[in-house]
Amino acid sequence: MNKSDLLEELELCNECKMCFEVCPVYKATHREVFSPASRLSTAKKILSGEAVTAQMIESIYNCCKCQLCESICPQGISITSIIHEARVALAEKGIGPTEKHNRVIEGIQRLGNSVNGDPSKRLEWLPEEFVQRESETLFFVGCLPSYLVQEVARSSYLLLKRLGFNFMILQDEGCCGVYFYDSGRTDLAREKFEENAERFRKLGIKRVVVACAGCYRCFKRYYPQLLGHVDFETVHIVELLPSLLKEKEMQPKRNNLKVIYQDPCRLGRMEGLYQQPRELLELCGVKIREMPQNKEKALCCGAGAGIRSVYPHLSLELASRLLDHVDLEHLVSSCPFCTFNLRYALKKMGREKTIKIDYITQIVLDSLY
Ligand code: SF4
Ligand code: SF4
Repeated sequence: MNKSDLLEELELCNECKMCFEVCPVYKATHREVFSPASRLSTAKKILSGEAVTAQMIESIYNCCKCQLCESICPQGISITSIIHEARVALAEKGIGPTEKHNRVIEGIQRLGNSVNGDPSKRLEWLPEEFVQRESETLFFVGCLPSYLVQEVARSSYLLLKRLGFNFMILQDEGCCGVYFYDSGRTDLAREKFEENAERFRKLGIKRVVVACAGCYRCFKRYYPQLLGHVDFETVHIVELLPSLLKEKEMQPKRNNLKVIYQDPCRLGRMEGLYQQPRELLELCGVKIREMPQNKEKALCCGAGAGIRSVYPHLSLELASRLLDHVDLEHLVSSCPFCTFNLRYALKKMGREKTIKIDYITQIVLDSLY
């Protein structure tokens, strides 16, 4: 959407305030300025070139881009896209993103990952010696799984191998660039996307398999959006595994687990991947209990779109509010960032022993042994 289309769409808001009822940030802060509708008027001011205040910057950047507001807005306004364009406008004016964003951005440029990881330890998770394989399919591990939730990387890798799936990994994988994009630094995002897309093209990569919901959204939507076209398709591992298990006639042992499945915003509400992770768990004999708010109404874990690094208290509050709705001692997610943030919140709440949080491939792998 171009700027005039955005400004036109902004006018559709009739201030019905229905979005107030669902926005997790508004509900956590009780500040109208952080409601979706107020963010829209802030975006309008920014896009129209009005003077920008510190509070306006905060209201544009403390949105976790969960899209819950869009699921309820009767006017069908693309609220998160408009907020995103306001971030881009702030970055173009040189008054966004914030200092904290800039520290993460500098870290990605220096180290090649968004979590301050030592590049020489990028493959520490790998359960065997690295061998450079050739394949048209790349398993893109992601920054969080490579460093902070390594069992995501390990279990996904072992599972794909166990199922005889032909894939390669990269020794110096780097970052997908979603943090650049989400912070409004389109210039840096485009540069990173071009670099990765060119690298994949040279390696003959036709398919990129990811474990992270953020990488998924980035490769699948933001790469084509900024580059116009990419030569690879993007597949989340939960899309791949059900058919792979059936094709290989694998019979996971019935593990009689009962879990709550958490729908990550970027896989569920944004991409409609509701059935695949549920089918995968059911193939392993897992009984699923649904969250009171699930699928398109699922709550956000509070980690994405730069919130965790820039507004950590808010992020923690959103994660805690989600956990308050978990009435079972086992939760499973298909996103490493949700897994990480929810575990962190549990620890901060002193409740780490009350709920076990697993990434989905760990459950599947365990059921194959
Ligand atoms: S995307 Fe989520 S956090 Fe942002 S305004 Fe909408 S509901 Fe609120
Ligand atoms: S739900 Fe939509 S129309 Fe209603 S106040 Fe929110 S943004 Fe405006």
